[in-house]
Amino acid sequence: MGCGNTTSTGTKDGVTEKARVTFVLGGPGCGKGTQCSLMVERDDFVHLSAGDLLREEQATDSKDSKLIKDYIKEGKIVPVEITCNLILKAMQKKGMSKKFLIDGFPRNEDNLQGWNKVMNKHANVVQVVFFELSEDIMLERIMKRAETSGRADDNKEAAEKRFNTFKNETMKVIKHFEGKKMVHKVDATGGIEDVYENLKDGLIV
Ligand code: UDP
Ligand code: MG
Repeated sequence: MGCGNTTSTGTKDGVTEKARVTFVLGGPGCGKGTQCSLMVERDDFVHLSAGDLLREEQATDSKDSKLIKDYIKEGKIVPVEITCNLILKAMQKKGMSKKFLIDGFPRNEDNLQGWNKVMNKHANVVQVVFFELSEDIMLERIMKRAETSGRADDNKEAAEKRFNTFKNETMKVIKHFEGKKMVHKVDATGGIEDVYENLKDGLIV
């Protein structure tokens, strides 16, 4: 203490403060975004969706936009350097002393390693929220969302690919945090308020 950590931007009483991060995970269409909006309104979190940040970046003519577009369509995981940089920039813009929900990240072990390398000095991960839902219901919700989302990956074929990526890669990340007793598992069946009630019971706010 006192020697001035220059890597973070939040300070409190002269002591450098790290961002407090909650990772929000769960299969495609499980309701992460919806529940994150409620946590923003009711529990004072700042919400950053990795998927939304990638889609924003893809919509610009940056050097990564073509790659991002191809990965998203295939339900594959974008290289962590790209995603992590977008997340860090977005966090810094909001101010590092906030409580962040990072939604849809880390999606595989490479994402997690990349995060640790770049972000350990900026942020503390306090918990991982895992929304659990059957594939049947996730697919139903995706097909419903497809009517309005305009997303290239909201269709049955891309959804199947995303389910596979979730099972084969993201579940390992969840298991990793389960080993550290950091996972808050939430039953995501049922209506929005029912799920929020399940979520609130045990959530670190
Ligand atoms: N994606 C990625 N890395 C991330 C987050 C998203 O590569 O950290 C890509 C991936 O191709 C994924 C797509 O973006 O399938 C959509 O992600 P999003 O989180 O928006 O989908 P959701 O799970 O919310 O339906
Ligand atoms: Mg989402």
